[in-house]
Amino acid sequence: MPNFSFNISELLKKPEGESFEVGLNQKIDLESEVKAKTPFAGSATFIRIDEGIEVQVSGKITLIVPCGRCGKDFETAMKISFSKTFWENPKLAAEPTEIISPKGEIELFPYIRAEILVQIPIKPLCSKLCQSIQPKIESPLKKPSPFDILKGRIK
Ligand SMILES: [Zn+2]
Repeated sequence: MPNFSFNISELLKKPEGESFEVGLNQKIDLESEVKAKTPFAGSATFIRIDEGIEVQVSGKITLIVPCGRCGKDFETAMKISFSKTFWENPKLAAEPTEIISPKGEIELFPYIRAEILVQIPIKPLCSKLCQSIQPKIESPLKKPSPFDILKGRIK
């Protein structure tokens, strides 16, 4: 279980504009065929705003991604940076994960995971020169001609 939950109850007692920063260096399970090779390393800054907390997250990670053409796993490094607002008043939240818990906790995991996964191309390639084995199998020269099939049926 990745631990990206933070207690910001002290910050909630402070006036708007107050903030603190924490370093991040956590293992992350992306719950996907994409695996993390390194921990997620970066920082999170928590800023007191009216009725909530704004969190600014930035960091980097190296992933192991299956190639969309040949299927071979390869490594790719990426950086992410985003901000997210969490609310004390549930009515201001667009989704339940945006609500600050009664204990003053917020969970960043779903947002960090989503930011990482959205950056992965739909068909990632292990290299620009990646040659799939597929075209050889689908070579038109090896396909039987429809006329040969007909000849075989007419006797
Ligand atoms: Zn490939």
